Amino acid sequence: MSSIIQIRNLIFEYEKEEDGEPVRAIDGVTLDIEEGSFVAVIGRNGSGKSTLAKNLNGLFVPTEGTVLVDGWDTRDDEHIWEIRQTAGMVFQNPDNQLVSSIVEDDVAFGPENLGVEPSVIRERVDMALSSVRMGEYRHKAPHQLSGGQKQRVAIAGVIAMRPKCIIFDEPTAMLDPRGRRDIMKIIQQLHEEGITVILITHFMDEAVRADRVIIMDKGRVLLDGTPAEVFSRRERMLEVSLDVPVAVEIAAALRSRGIDVPEDVITPEDMVEFVCQYR
Ligand code: ADP
Repeated sequence: MSSIIQIRNLIFEYEKEEDGEPVRAIDGVTLDIEEGSFVAVIGRNGSGKSTLAKNLNGLFVPTEGTVLVDGWDTRDDEHIWEIRQTAGMVFQNPDNQLVSSIVEDDVAFGPENLGVEPSVIRERVDMALSSVRMGEYRHKAPHQLSGGQKQRVAIAGVIAMRPKCIIFDEPTAMLDPRGRRDIMKIIQQLHEEGITVILITHFMDEAVRADRVIIMDKGRVLLDGTPAEVFSRRERMLEVSLDVPVAVEIAAALRSRGIDVPEDVITPEDMVEFVCQYR
């Protein structure tokens, strides 16, 4: 497996509005994101997740250190379009991402900017809308849609650019449970199709679906491993004020009653499986 994103000793500082003093949001992060992987990034508010995300497609460039996207250095202005095309981004609020008054025009916007042929654009728009199950809404105006539907259109706009990697920055934070489930299904489907997925989330039940979980704390990587490895460090997570997935919580309670639940029981399905086989 090769890395699609390589982060080396990344430091990112904002400037305080009042006095221009630096605020260090990322404090020395080194990571490789494998092509085709599904990585969840979690951490409490202010831990640097969003800043990290924006460093992964050239929206922000490092204060120190380097970020390579498919081999391109994000500091290299010349390749910014290749970088943006390789690593697409979906943000929390779909209203900030939709630019046109008709759904299908919105989805076409990205490929148009990339100079894709009109006939190819049409094909890509069809494909992207059908993969988020929004084909029948193509002639609607975004303001006629629910929050979850708008987020699906925003995702279609990114898919239409044919990125190798999509970074989702808390894409379900503003949605109701049904909207969240729909978006998670789409994210899993994109991963199954081979797209690298980086999902920033504060929902542990979303993070357990990933194949790697990274926990950020104070601009650094605190834990990095498979969901089973990371979530089995329950005490460590509680120490940094993070929830643990509900199945991990139940497993810990069962263990305290002497029931030997394996460490890799982290999703509700794992728990059901364990309980059904327990004698
Ligand atoms: P998270 O996404 O984990 O909530 P952020 O990446 O948004 O964290 O923020 C990391 C740190 O950077 C926080 O201390 C936050 O206050 C600071 N920060 C974020 N945006 C700005 C900004 N525009 N100006 C100054 N400081 C900022």
